[in-house]
Amino acid sequence: MRHLKIEASGIVQGVGFRPFVYRIANEHGIKGSVSNTPGGVRIHASGDGDQLYLFLRALKDEAPPQAVIEEVQVETAAPFSAASFEIIPSTGGEDRSVLISPDLATCGDCLDELLDAGDRRYRYPFINCTNCGPRFTIIRDTPYDRPNTSMAKFTMCPDCEKEYHDPADRRFHAQPNACPVCGPRLWLADSKGREIEGDAVRLAAGLLREGKIIAIKGLGGFQLACDATSSETVARLRLKKNRYGKPLAVMAGSVSEASEYCMVTEEEERLLSSPKSPIVLLAEKEGSPISREVAIGLKHQGIFLPYTPMHHLLLREVDFPLVMTSGNISSEPIAKDNEEALERLGGIADYLILHDRDILVRYDDSVARALDGAEYPVRRARGYAPYPIRVKTTGGPQVLALGAELKNTFCLLRGEHAFISQHIGDMESPAELDHFEEALEAVKRLFSLEPEVVAYDLHPDYMTTHMAMEMPLPRIGVQHHHAHVVGCMADNREEGKVIGVAWDGTGYGEDGTVWGGEFLLSDKRGFERLAHLYQCPMPGADACIYRIHRMAMGVLSKLFDDEEEALLRLRELMEIKKKEGASLVSQLRNKVNAPLTSSAGRMFDVAAALAGLRSEAQYDGQAACELEAVAVETGHYYSFMLDRSREPWVIDTRQLFREVLEDVQIGVDAGMIAGKFHETMARSVVETCKELSSETGIERVALSGGVFQNELLTLRVLEGLRAAGLAPLIHRRVPTNDGGVSLGQAIIAASRASRQRD
Ligand code: ZN
Ligand code: ZN
Ligand code: FE
Repeated sequence: MRHLKIEASGIVQGVGFRPFVYRIANEHGIKGSVSNTPGGVRIHASGDGDQLYLFLRALKDEAPPQAVIEEVQVETAAPFSAASFEIIPSTGGEDRSVLISPDLATCGDCLDELLDAGDRRYRYPFINCTNCGPRFTIIRDTPYDRPNTSMAKFTMCPDCEKEYHDPADRRFHAQPNACPVCGPRLWLADSKGREIEGDAVRLAAGLLREGKIIAIKGLGGFQLACDATSSETVARLRLKKNRYGKPLAVMAGSVSEASEYCMVTEEEERLLSSPKSPIVLLAEKEGSPISREVAIGLKHQGIFLPYTPMHHLLLREVDFPLVMTSGNISSEPIAKDNEEALERLGGIADYLILHDRDILVRYDDSVARALDGAEYPVRRARGYAPYPIRVKTTGGPQVLALGAELKNTFCLLRGEHAFISQHIGDMESPAELDHFEEALEAVKRLFSLEPEVVAYDLHPDYMTTHMAMEMPLPRIGVQHHHAHVVGCMADNREEGKVIGVAWDGTGYGEDGTVWGGEFLLSDKRGFERLAHLYQCPMPGADACIYRIHRMAMGVLSKLFDDEEEALLRLRELMEIKKKEGASLVSQLRNKVNAPLTSSAGRMFDVAAALAGLRSEAQYDGQAACELEAVAVETGHYYSFMLDRSREPWVIDTRQLFREVLEDVQIGVDAGMIAGKFHETMARSVVETCKELSSETGIERVALSGGVFQNELLTLRVLEGLRAAGLAPLIHRRVPTNDGGVSLGQAIIAASRASRQRD
């Protein structure tokens, strides 16, 4: 007889791990015990060698679907005698390194019960078990036990209590366990908060059919729902929400329904039906009944499936897809409390579905796509956070990295765990700042994190930069595109030097100009700017993001010697008001408020404007997205020149844009121009990387930055780099947009801080 002590860490609490250990122990004749510890799960096991071998193998191979075992430590224990195998109470302690599961979509077993008229939870909208349901959004503190959650106020009935204490039950220690007798309740209210009697879900379905907008309290906040097939209703929602251009997400009842609207590949189906249940960007099918108002000018539709019992019930009542978008007015954080929702959403929604289980942290829906055969995250929140990304550690200090500004996240790095926050949003309003601080406090408390260093973007005007200046911690400023590249490295658990291609909309450069078309020889210690896109002036600076004709004027001013001439040519293509034209000319001539930029994102915007797609954008990157949507691949491309006489090298795009203008003049259609432009930009990345690789001997290329959200460009670049014998890396666990910047900042700051200490 041998005796072992086994410690397992990772996501091993709140996912049915102890009942699983209990079951396999009994299967293999093991005696002893299992308990939760602050660091994970501890097992005492006794048996003969064969039994223990099979037990350990089962522990690793058969773990419950939502468990993530990071490490199993096995040591010989002092002999003990046990007549059976038992689950024993949790042990306390100070080391809180246990990982908390994200909220997970309703599992198949719970769904079966939800729809089974004979089950005691038939149509109960809060059904859950150890394999599914809320986690992160209901936790006040660790350890993850019911008194520390927003379920504390509901006392379990005898039936629920019995399940909760039965190790053989799927709801053994399921902290949010509840039923219609004892648990939370759902009701429908009008926009003034007055309750309407009846079955909330059935009533809501009827109202949605009539074209009403309904605010729904979900897992991590409110959502706004309406009929996605009605252009009139969707337009009304956009107007009230003050959200004009940006695409809206659509919830479909099932994978087969989703594939009526969009193409769904195997990988995309896997993403749609995973417990993370993100919004997945899918290529729309011709003749889809979803209104054109939902994803204006785009060929991809953001589709997701029901992920709470309430969604399942609702989608079964209506026979059309629902727009399901975050419950906020544009640019504010998602509403989460009943009172808050009535105040903030009462003017948007005709009715509200409310419930009495409090949401403790705001938690948006996540967005992902499949690219090059695997997941490519776009926005990381529900289902992902707060589970940390594991990185290679340097053993530096704990770092808090504040991220950038748009699509922001923060990152707390401790050892090999990078706790990346859920998507916070655009840091442009005081409300977003509150959301940021609220989320930061939650993550620090739950994981006992105490940052010793703060990392921030070099941009002097970012709200996150101001935050860093006010923190009583040593500060490390990190260049934006360097952070992108190192974020991509850490995402792939790679170290060493790479050729980093950081292409995005805007980032503050070390020389004070606006960067965004960068080739940086990088590692986590530092970088060298080896090449960049040709710089053009941005008349009106950041105004160019929305007023694309201004950026187009900036580009044209570089093609023609004279600004008046450039304006004349621009006027042939788009309407420019007389006064604005004059001010553009003077800004460019006098170099006033016209900083230089090497931004790749802005060049996609300009190509879209010259091709006649749009000269004003309602959101950052809209024109570029539409350019991708219309692109026809022909294999043809424009000229560009890699100017190696300069230091750093410059990809000269002037000839490219001259040829675009020629195409426009002879009436080539926008789709062809878009296709040629994408091909050219992809080739310019590949050619530049090839040259840089032969110069430096480095074959690894890390692609990062918001421009690589462009699927067509990214796939062509990957293809070209591989054909050239280079080894490209793309993001796989954090977004390639600015949501991935905080991870890179944290890694760079940890590396610098530990060197300073030595
Ligand atoms: Zn379940
Ligand atoms: Zn109950
Ligand atoms: Fe960026």
